[in-house]
Amino acid sequence: MLIEFPNCPVSLRSPFYIERPPIESRIYEELDRPGSVVRIKAPRKMGKSSLLLRVLNQAKIQGYHTVSIDFSTVETARFRDLDRFLRWLCANIALQLGFAPKLNDVWDADIGSKISCTLYFDTCILARLDRPLVLALNEVNIVFEYPEIAKDFLPLLRSWYEQAKQVERFRGLRLVVVHSTEVYVPLQLHQSPFNVGLPIQLPEFTVEQVTDLARRHDIKELGTQDIERLMRLVGGHPYLIRLALYYLASENLLLSKILQEAPTLSGIYRNHLCALTEILQSNECLMLAFDRVIRSNHGVVLEPKLAFALEQLGLVQIDGDRCTISHQLYYCYFQTYDPLESMGDVGNALQQLQRENQTLKQLANLDSLTQLANRRHFDRTFTQTQLQMAREQDWLSIVLCDIDEFKLYNDTYGHPMGDRCLRAVAKVLRDSIRSNDFVARYGGEEFVLLLPHTTLEEATKIAERIRIGIKTLAIEHAKSQGREKLVTISFGVASEVPNFDDDLERLLRLADKALYRAKAEGRDCIIANDRDP
Ligand code: GH3
Ligand code: MG
Ligand code: MG
Repeated sequence: MLIEFPNCPVSLRSPFYIERPPIESRIYEELDRPGSVVRIKAPRKMGKSSLLLRVLNQAKIQGYHTVSIDFSTVETARFRDLDRFLRWLCANIALQLGFAPKLNDVWDADIGSKISCTLYFDTCILARLDRPLVLALNEVNIVFEYPEIAKDFLPLLRSWYEQAKQVERFRGLRLVVVHSTEVYVPLQLHQSPFNVGLPIQLPEFTVEQVTDLARRHDIKELGTQDIERLMRLVGGHPYLIRLALYYLASENLLLSKILQEAPTLSGIYRNHLCALTEILQSNECLMLAFDRVIRSNHGVVLEPKLAFALEQLGLVQIDGDRCTISHQLYYCYFQTYDPLESMGDVGNALQQLQRENQTLKQLANLDSLTQLANRRHFDRTFTQTQLQMAREQDWLSIVLCDIDEFKLYNDTYGHPMGDRCLRAVAKVLRDSIRSNDFVARYGGEEFVLLLPHTTLEEATKIAERIRIGIKTLAIEHAKSQGREKLVTISFGVASEVPNFDDDLERLLRLADKALYRAKAEGRDCIIANDRDP
């Protein structure tokens, strides 16, 4: 079987079109209703044009006339002037229906472009048709970029929809409007074609749909777990999924290699990622906005126009008023990208500001009692280190440690002594790590070590040195269960070679489980946990 490279809409004959029920049948039903409007919205490469092909095909089967206008094919010069734009539109509709345009028969400067256009559409197009007309307008988002055109053209579409309620001929019109982002042209509600008709938001594929698509590619060795791994990286994004399946099926690449290289310039998504980078680089505001999204843990509120532009590119999803990154693929790829480097003078000024900011941030990253990094700082470093080790395919170890019976210690010696103890323990930790290691106060009397390029065995040895180091401090703890009546620490260690598609919290959970066991097994000890959960 020849597998098509997924770079254009899925043709009608292709076996790779996956239906997203009940979307197709809902649209077909709607086309039967006089004067109906269907609005299809989804980010780029989500399958809008492939769906539109099927909608138009269905319309043809029902014996309807069809016209398909794609605004991405219009020269930008036509968007400068409403009259030229509307004449272009009418001429195209006429030609697709096999009529000579003859616009000047009705077009009249005295009555204006909009009325001329409606008059032409009514008397020279609709009046000559014996059956309903499905008029599909694709990439309408391009019109949004020209507010001067949009503010007249969009209400014009709405007026055609309203006409269907009164004028018999307009009942034959079925409008399908396809766009990749929210409308951001200010329009009064009664003028907007975007709050009438049937709204369809195209969702990503489900696990079942991805499984179905893999089967159609004849990839047998792809199990449920493999599909889940792939989807952790790219979700159910139709294009990104199909690209992976294409390389699995026709280039015989291994899934592990695909996943490993995915967010790099040697991976299968390089062209897609470069194209996105170029778009971001051509718009500084967009790039800085996206940078904020990447660096936030819980999403950010962006100016609507920027949020919609990023949503349209498929880089973010908007939930309520917050933008979060859409797929881990983008997180991994853009995480290391510094937008300021490519920004010239503005970039330099911003870099200076950033350096000043850095000093403030360092203060915000520090735990004031122990002078170790705080939890916030750890969270960021943890993700970055995991991605770094995923790129380098090397071991990453994590050590969680917790002072034993510290509540009792506080109760016995008082909080100020407790604080002194915490500082002493922190010093041992700081003195025990190597230059590339990272240590933080995880919370209360818990600490965490992040050890890159370190196997479980090496990490256990480091933990053991710390355990002895604490003992050597010989801090008295009269109520301790231990024989020696000293302050001790318990450790949980976990290690793995991370992958880009990993659940980033898993390593931490493994270490936490190990620590829990260390406590259960009598404290003052180290439990190492392998990948086995
Ligand atoms: P286990 O051996 O099971 O870990 O018992 P534990 O008593 O150490 O653990 P628990 O979580 O019950 O108590 C932790 C104690 O740590 C209670 C809390 O008051 C104390 N603590 C947390 N932060 C600080 C701090 O900043 N200073 C002081 N002095 N004590 C703190
Ligand atoms: Mg404790
Ligand atoms: Mg604790």
